[in-house]
Amino acid sequence: MTKSNVSRASRAKIGGKSAVEPCACCGIAPDAQGRPFSVTFGLPDVYFQIEEELLDTWGDDPFLAIKNVGFFLRVLMPVNLTDGFSVNFGTWLEIHGEDFKKAWTNWNFPEYADLEIEGYVANAITPWGEFPHKLVRAVVRDVTQVPFLASCPDPLVTRILGDTWPHAEVLTSYSELLKPDPKLEG
Ligand SMILES: [Zn+2]
Repeated sequence: MTKSNVSRASRAKIGGKSAVEPCACCGIAPDAQGRPFSVTFGLPDVYFQIEEELLDTWGDDPFLAIKNVGFFLRVLMPVNLTDGFSVNFGTWLEIHGEDFKKAWTNWNFPEYADLEIEGYVANAITPWGEFPHKLVRAVVRDVTQVPFLASCPDPLVTRILGDTWPHAEVLTSYSELLKPDPKLEG
């Protein structure tokens, strides 16, 4: 064995024929490793409703402030789906300026693990559309990820976060986005 053949890299079990077939009802294949899909909204919806000459922002992603509009934090909204599917929607929470400052200050420190923040979901997300103007609480599940939406007094949002939804109802409008990349599939 030559020295150059030795490394500390681990060898994960990858490659081979895909273990999962596309679903007969919607044509979408679940992730082979069972990971949730990611559907990410690039910016809060309000960003696109402001005339360009009035748009004055600070930060980008995950911290975005829009002058005279509000403060936005990148969050994940996990949704459980039937038949082995799940999806994390990357969305934005409109939060209080003080909370924005606190999140920004603690983001890369141990205090981040205890961060809890309330705000309003800032994207209309198909199939539910515009979210009710009710505070949704976000918590940290994993310090390497942005906060996850966890609870809300609104019954619909409670169902979105807690129920298992028919996967086709939720995923069909994103089917183009969720197609496996043939370059990656080989
Ligand atoms: Zn299906």
